[in-house]
Amino acid sequence: TTEVINNSVSNDFKIDLINFSSTPDSDLMNWANFASDKMSERTSNILVVAYNIGEYIGEEIPGMPFNSNEVILSQSEIDLIMAQTEQWLLNDPCMSEQRGHRNEELESYRFWLENGADTSTQRGLCEETRLVMMAWKDGIETWNLQRFLVHELYHAFQRDIANEYCNDTIERMGRGEHAHAVVEGAADYFTFFTADEMYTDADRQNYDRIGYRGPLNNLFREASNLINEDRSNDVTGSGIATRAAIMVRLMVEKGWISHEGILDGSFHHNCERADLNPSNPDFVFAWENWFQFENQNEEWRFSDSILSN
Ligand SMILES: [Zn+2]
Repeated sequence: TTEVINNSVSNDFKIDLINFSSTPDSDLMNWANFASDKMSERTSNILVVAYNIGEYIGEEIPGMPFNSNEVILSQSEIDLIMAQTEQWLLNDPCMSEQRGHRNEELESYRFWLENGADTSTQRGLCEETRLVMMAWKDGIETWNLQRFLVHELYHAFQRDIANEYCNDTIERMGRGEHAHAVVEGAADYFTFFTADEMYTDADRQNYDRIGYRGPLNNLFREASNLINEDRSNDVTGSGIATRAAIMVRLMVEKGWISHEGILDGSFHHNCERADLNPSNPDFVFAWENWFQFENQNEEWRFSDSILSN
């Protein structure tokens, strides 16, 4: 695969793909379009840069939560990815105007590629210019890759996360871990529900030998595993996105935010997330009680005392 594929989705804004992984372009584009079609209105152009990495090496990548891995790409493939990515940025109305910003980004991307970084990141380059960079080991389960792609793409669909006005508003309220958790939680909430629609029966079986019982059940169970892993009830513990997705679910069940708004992206149209801050008692309640769920007769649910509180 050596060409940038231009596949327009249902609305005018494109998702382009530079794919140097062994997963076929058509699979990645089908999944991306499936997720994109869930959005009520998209306004960004998105580039997805995808590649495979080899065995884990584990050196830290400065400034990012990535580690180094064996580099599978040849130097000429890396150069090609870089050239195509640069061209995409030069064609973009916003990034073409920002030489310094562009070069800084490109320098990081090259460093990640040349060090086999296990990238999983959405760059809000401009409000309407988003770049997803993601790396995985060949052989990853299909459901796992779908989930990975859908999660990162949702960040690219989150319009307000690269909106200066929205970010300034949140900053003024003391941007803390909560702002990050809300963004991650919404992304994973969308991901569990949307990826679920993409799974085949075989995927579901692969996913979970105990029995896959649907997206919400699965979300609860994974969050429960995370809590057991590090014995922490903090939203910000390991696997913050999945923990925070449960916090989002609690707010949905309480009627404080809309399930549909998360799933069609409209939650992120007008900076609604700015209301989810530490001076909002409802949000504080969700932040402090998200872990109060249990398994009753094979079904996960929030404790009655939490729902009726
Ligand atoms: Zn994320």
